[in-house]
Formats: sequence, structure tokens, C-alpha cells
Amino acid sequence: MAEEFVYLNAIDIQNLKKTYFSGRKNSVEALKGIDLTVEEGEIFGYLGPNGAGKTTTLKILLGFISPTEGSVNLMGYPHEEARFHLRIGYVPEEHSFYPHLKLKQFLSYMSELTSVDGNLMERVDKVVEEFKLQKAYEKRMGDLSLGWRQKAALAAAFIDEPQLLILDEPTSGLDPMGVDDFFTTLKKGKSNGQTILFSSHQLSDVEKIADRIGIISKGEIIKIGNVQELLTSAGVSTLNELFLETMENSN
Ligand code: ATP
Repeated sequence: MAEEFVYLNAIDIQNLKKTYFSGRKNSVEALKGIDLTVEEGEIFGYLGPNGAGKTTTLKILLGFISPTEGSVNLMGYPHEEARFHLRIGYVPEEHSFYPHLKLKQFLSYMSELTSVDGNLMERVDKVVEEFKLQKAYEKRMGDLSLGWRQKAALAAAFIDEPQLLILDEPTSGLDPMGVDDFFTTLKKGKSNGQTILFSSHQLSDVEKIADRIGIISKGEIIKIGNVQELLTSAGVSTLNELFLETMENSN
């Protein structure tokens, strides 16, 4: 019988610290002990200025780099083990693809790689439809524009209907229609119980889609909460204003 896991949060980060060392003397304290939880089925926007520690956090969640201290659990599994037990979709901040592969070959390869039930081409067709990739389907990855490559990366992340999505600046390079299609997919995912953590600098986009946000600055979480509640309590009408005010007060 499958082991049953009881967990409180889909993502549970406690006292997470990360120091990068380069050479004997140089070190950067990228994360200084962050606590962050994301509930199952929640869309969480992870915000912060350049160099604040967002990508570092996401890479630790995926087990790509190790923390210096602290604990990270994904749906009850320690982060180093999580990707062996869970379906996790990931879009990195920067991606590289085999340039000679056609988009259709790339997606069927990704479908095969992550397949749990053998419905390989149904999954490809579904993400092609959702991300409106039909026009690029026969093109080589190396010939796609930035926005089309980003859509391809998003489609690949969603291809096996992951339980958890960790997306580093997913709207980067997308045109407004692409953002709209992506949000439709996110909302559908949320209604199917998917948990989504994404970083972004596009605050007007985040405001439209996130249930809660967290703002990280210099390796520390300085604001966290429900978007509407944070706006109301700060007496501002946009996330952009809230962000700028929070950053000003933190300096
Ligand atoms: P951005 O919005 O610009 O993508 P970020 O919030 O994702 O920034 P990180 O990439 O997590 O920020 O970087 C946090 C800090 O850690 C920065 O000071 C960065 O220079 C440093 N850093 C990141 N990766 C490394 C590394 N491999 N070696 C040394 N320092 C690093």
C-alpha cells in the first residue's frame, strides 16, 4: 500500500540560509534565515529586487543547490527527495534548448521523459493548445524568438500536470496575449489543486493572479500576506505602490 503523507503546507521553508563562497575570503549571504509556507492549491508570487535571493530559494527547493542551514519540505518530503516522489514543473530564469530540435520533437521528448501514463501525444496536444503553440510547432527551437521559447519552456513544465510548479520569472518575454494564456492555465491548474510558486518583476501581472505574495530583500522576507489584505492595510491601490513603499521603508 502506498505510504500516506500528512503535511500542513505544500511548501514549508524554515530558517533557510544560503551563503555562497567564492575563493577563501569572498562570501555572499544570499539567504539569511527565511521562513515561508505555501498552501496546497495556492498561487504564490515571490517578489524582490535584483539579487534579493529569489532564484537561490527556488534552486534550493528543486534540490539543485544545497542550503547552508534550515529545512525545506515539499508536500511532506525533504526537498532533496521531493523530485523523486512528486511531479514538479520547473521553469528556470534562463533556459537553453537543443537548437536543432523542432518544437514538436522537444515537447514529445519532454512528454516521454515525464510520462506517468503513456498518453504522450495527448499531453503534447494539450499544452500546444493551452499555450497556443501551433504556429511554432514545426519550427526549430534555435529559430524561435524569446517569447516563443518562453512559451515552450512553460508548456514543458506543465506537460505532466505537475502537483507543484516552481517558476522563475515565467512571464518574462511573453506578450500580453501570452501572459493571458499563461494565467488561464494557472487558474485552471489552481482549480485542479496545483500549487504554484513563481517569482516575477511584473507586479501588475502578479496582482492579477497571486493569492499571496512574499517580498524578499537582501536575503530576508520583509513582507508576506494576502494581496488584497496587504494593499488595504498599507492604504495603497496597486502592488507596485506597495512594493516601492515596502522597499523604501526597509532601507
Ligand atoms: P534577480 O531578480 O536579479 O534574478 P534574485 O533575487 O533571483 O535576483 P539571486 O540570483 O538568488 O537573486 O542572488 C542572490 C545573491 O546571491 C546575489 O547577491 C547574487 O550575486 C548571489 N549569487 C547568486 N548565485 C551565486 C553564485 N553561484 N555564487 C556566488 N554568488 C551568487
